[in-house]
Amino acid sequence: MEAATPSVAGVAPTPGTSVPSPPPVEHLSPHDIVTYFRCPFEMELHRAQHLSWRTGQKVMPLTPTGTTPLGHSPLPPPPGESSDAQPGRLIVGPHDLLLYQDPDESGLPILFPPEQSHAHAFVRQHGSTLIDQLWGLSGRPDLVVRRGDGQVFPVEYKETHLWEGYHEHHGRFFDVLQVIAECRLVEATWGSAPRFGVVYYGDAQGGGEREGYVEVPYGDLQRNWLQQAMTLIRADKVRAPVPAERNCQHCEPNRDGLCRYACKGFEELHRNERQEPFSRRRFY
Ligand code: SF4
Repeated sequence: MEAATPSVAGVAPTPGTSVPSPPPVEHLSPHDIVTYFRCPFEMELHRAQHLSWRTGQKVMPLTPTGTTPLGHSPLPPPPGESSDAQPGRLIVGPHDLLLYQDPDESGLPILFPPEQSHAHAFVRQHGSTLIDQLWGLSGRPDLVVRRGDGQVFPVEYKETHLWEGYHEHHGRFFDVLQVIAECRLVEATWGSAPRFGVVYYGDAQGGGEREGYVEVPYGDLQRNWLQQAMTLIRADKVRAPVPAERNCQHCEPNRDGLCRYACKGFEELHRNERQEPFSRRRFY
């Protein structure tokens, strides 16, 4: 007997017609998750802007005109505490390997001698973006390292001084979100779940002396949080703005004059910024 054609939601298809495919899942990147956590409208403006560039057609943001702004993003913070900041360079042993390096990122610290780097070979074979087809996530960590004991983990490099305003700096918390998403990309690509990811801070002016890093844990709690975060983002068809100085002053769409909800214009938010001479900045 001929097997029945599968039906959608229990409804048998009309003979001669094909079953419509489900709508494609919205692909997300670690950057999307970071911007959504700050301000969903910022993520939506980015998405519309990139789609417009890619397709050559103007894509409008989903956010309806007149949407009421929120006091904070609907995305809860991720669970778990990062390790204390470790000063100094990330130590590389003779049995450690560099598995991947973002080929378009210049100025990354050179931690591995050429004979311990497989990064070019990986990019030649698999391309420069890590893609998790199962979860619909893709992105580029700065580095992926395999330790001699088999541990694989991503490294996200931030060209900033580890100790300068470490606890006050608004960006540091977002680095944690980004690394959790990159841990998932490593897990999907190499089939081995990292125990942690690394945010590696370096300051070019310090010649290595001002470098340091934190380890961000990655386990079931963080994986579940990420999965729920991606579900929430995809289900949100409003993507409301969260206008606040702490958000709007770091917002590229605000810099480009694209946001009608901004608490203040980008220039106004940066007008009083004083560039202190480097020697007068505070170091611990
Ligand atoms: S300017 Fe402010 S409200 Fe507008 S998208 Fe950026 S962070 Fe959100």
